[in-house]
Amino acid sequence: MAFVEFADVSKIYQMGEVEVAAVRDMSFEIEQGEFVVIVGPSGAGKTTLLNMLGGMDSATSGTIMLDGAPVSSFNRKQLTQYRRHDIGFVFQFYNLVQNLTARENVELASQICRDPLDADAVLAAVGLSERKANFPGQLSGGEQQRVAIARALAKNPKLLLCDEPTGALDYETGKAILKLLQDTCRDTGRTVVVVTHNSAFTAIADRVIHVREGSVASVELNEHPLSAE
Ligand code: ADP
Ligand code: ADP
Repeated sequence: MAFVEFADVSKIYQMGEVEVAAVRDMSFEIEQGEFVVIVGPSGAGKTTLLNMLGGMDSATSGTIMLDGAPVSSFNRKQLTQYRRHDIGFVFQFYNLVQNLTARENVELASQICRDPLDADAVLAAVGLSERKANFPGQLSGGEQQRVAIARALAKNPKLLLCDEPTGALDYETGKAILKLLQDTCRDTGRTVVVVTHNSAFTAIADRVIHVREGSVASVELNEHPLSAE
């Protein structure tokens, strides 16, 4: 059994009389330790897919498994535990707590989970040792995203999910963030999934899942992915 399995997953939104299928009969697999890019145009269902995988949204039908656990059958309490312990999230706009320092933002995440990593160690891993006493407003966009990545990693999650993590950054800064995510995956063996509409990112992935109109259009495996630099 693969580390992540989506089997015939659909997500239907009811808009009054009209049904909108954000995701339709989607099936794919991800192996443990892979660096995965999910790519597709705006509206293709990427965020919906990621939110279901992260336990933030429930599927209308189909089966989602992570590491042998039936995520799509979890009750509310199990989903809370799953989001808290098993998944690290990175968003486009960082979502940091503005009145806490970088270090406090990272510690916040480690306080709620079972087996946290040391805050100073993860801040060092993302290259922010010198900046941990700064508040988000004192940091550049790229630095804020590094804090967000450190916060997600501090939970020591099974899966790191990133939704358009470079979407608010300039080209060079975005590239550095992708490199950090790729290094995190390679150096620690952690499974990392990045959603993007930018097809330029696909060459750096072990696995590329192309999404179109709510379905998987194709899956590409790169035996020798490029380094993100
Ligand atoms: P992407 O992340 O690829 O841009 P989304 O997953 O955000 O795509 O959206 C996929 C489709 O589902 C879009 O047509 C979008 O309008 C629709 N959709 C997403 N969320 C909702 C919602 N809460 N209610 C109704 N339709 C939604
Ligand atoms: P970027 O090119 O990533 O947008 P900036 O030009 O915004 O970066 O910032 C460059 C450097 O200046 C960064 O190291 C950042 O932490 C620092 N910096 C930016 N704004 C402030 C601030 N208000 N207080 C302290 N340091 C700041």
